[in-house]
Amino acid sequence: MAHVDGQGTTAARRADRRNGERRLTPLERALRERIQNEGPITVEAYMEACNAYYYATRDPLGRDGDFTTAPEISQMFGEMIGAALADAWARAGKPSDAIYAELGPGRGSLAADALRVLRRAGFEGAVHLIETSPVLRVQQGERVPDAQWHDSIEDLPAAPLLLVANEFFDALPVRQFVAGFERKVMIAAGGLAFDRDGEIMESSPARDGAVSAIATCLAQSGGVALVIDYGHEKTAPGDTLQAVRGHRYVPTLVDPGEQDLTSHVDFEALRRAATDAGAATTQVVTQGDWLQRLGIQARADALAKSHPKRAEELEIAIDRLCHEEQMGQLFKVLAIRSPEWPIPAGFPE
Ligand code: SAH
Repeated sequence: MAHVDGQGTTAARRADRRNGERRLTPLERALRERIQNEGPITVEAYMEACNAYYYATRDPLGRDGDFTTAPEISQMFGEMIGAALADAWARAGKPSDAIYAELGPGRGSLAADALRVLRRAGFEGAVHLIETSPVLRVQQGERVPDAQWHDSIEDLPAAPLLLVANEFFDALPVRQFVAGFERKVMIAAGGLAFDRDGEIMESSPARDGAVSAIATCLAQSGGVALVIDYGHEKTAPGDTLQAVRGHRYVPTLVDPGEQDLTSHVDFEALRRAATDAGAATTQVVTQGDWLQRLGIQARADALAKSHPKRAEELEIAIDRLCHEEQMGQLFKVLAIRSPEWPIPAGFPE
């Protein structure tokens, strides 16, 4: 809040006192009412409610927002993806009915950068964006004016897919279990609290369902999907739920709906869901290795040659995207493909 006048401050203080010294967010008020009526809600229900509200009410990206993603760091990220998809499409025989599809496209930067490369390679297919946030749909429309929007993957037309999902799966809700019991959120000591602690196992029917829907399309109509997210290659116990606001970690149960709630993606679970639905998968590679194999350094060198003033900015971007202490190691990439399509570039054969 940039400016608080005297009256507002007094009113806010009064409200704070009423609510036990802390002002409740609109969503927290609704969640408390729900918990009072229904009893404790699952972590999954909590995460789903928080993110639906959060994304519907703002553009969270960039320096002034809550977090920054790879396509917002550099145009090279989307360009590498465009080149990898163009190459896979060419090797599959350039099917003219193929479409570009993206899940949770944020500001539309990745789509714009990838499509520039795809169009140059002769790809003329339609653009389908899966996005539930009205605020972000407006942003995407500014960068990709010819797109068509859908609420869910099931709404995609039956056509060969060139699909991308960057930092989409981490926002889909997870279930948490402690010793076989589902972890829930309750009201305690005037605030929201978890009903149990201990060694936590996570699973995500929402992620499995999304992968299964993509894999079914790929198996039926052909194509390839690139999934990029932070997470782990093998299923392992651990509480990975986290909240970020203003580029800082914050407690997960405070100010629900006003911060980005995510959890690490279990790539082993995604691979299993894809294979079960009839698609083939690649090995999981780190974002750093993948971008280097796709030739991001050569792209940076070419851009620096034509724009010498940008040379330093380009090297900083490569460092942020690829260095193991930045995004290079924590972020992983998986390709899911039709068994009829080639293994995309950037992955081991
Ligand atoms: N891919 C973008 C944005 C990542 S943020 C980037 O890399 O910059 C997550 C995105 O997923 C946002 O666009 C958000 O609105 C969208 N999203 C979150 N949950 C969703 C859901 N259940 N269905 C469709 N889109 C969703």
